[in-house]
Amino acid sequence: MFDAHAHLDFPEFDADRDAVLERAQARGVRGVVVPGVDEASWERARRLGFPYCVGVHPQWLQEDERDPAAIEAALRADPGAVGVGETGLDARVDVPAERQRAVFEAHLRAAAARSLPVVLHVVGRHGAALAILERHAPLRGMVHGFSGAPEVARRYLALGLHLSFGGLVTRPRALKARAAATAVPLERLLVETDSPSAPPDGAFAERNEPSLLPLVVEALAALRGETSELVGERTEANARALFGLVARARG
Ligand SMILES: [Zn+2]
Repeated sequence: MFDAHAHLDFPEFDADRDAVLERAQARGVRGVVVPGVDEASWERARRLGFPYCVGVHPQWLQEDERDPAAIEAALRADPGAVGVGETGLDARVDVPAERQRAVFEAHLRAAAARSLPVVLHVVGRHGAALAILERHAPLRGMVHGFSGAPEVARRYLALGLHLSFGGLVTRPRALKARAAATAVPLERLLVETDSPSAPPDGAFAERNEPSLLPLVVEALAALRGETSELVGERTEANARALFGLVARARG
């Protein structure tokens, strides 16, 4: 198994990061990618030795006053990222739509210039995000924490993107996301925890962590009528291919 999106650089893991990684490994989680939310986060992830992405998350844009060109320059200047993001549009954050769009496009340009996959964060604005992405197609990357309907999933798939599912699919009431999870071909499927937020159902934990990924894989496998082994193996292979990662410690 491979956790395609886990914020293991966050301070929530400072006290016991090594134990968290050991538990994940013991449960069969053999790698993670740490997304960027701001420049400090991707520097932390790099220092900690994780495969990481460079990105300014829409929510963190609330504290980042740089213009899109300055953000793009920072995304291009980093030497070691495996992806660009998380980036996108979020209807819940207090950042004007126009600024979110301009920064989102700066990320798409940086990803194309560096030939890296993009990591997308889209909440409540799939139509607007798809209109932008369609102008930048063809694309390589993933939609993280996908929670939309099957017909929205198909539009991202048509652009060449992977869809990543997290703890939401373990919740019986998440009907849209659970339906979408059955509409994604196995070769475009990824799994994630988005640690430390939103533990899956059945975890009985306040903090999410990669060792809980098997609950996501089991829920997806049951929905899709596939075995957990198959879903775990194929999503790991997909994540490694997308981010260009060979099997090694921490990644
Ligand atoms: Zn995230």
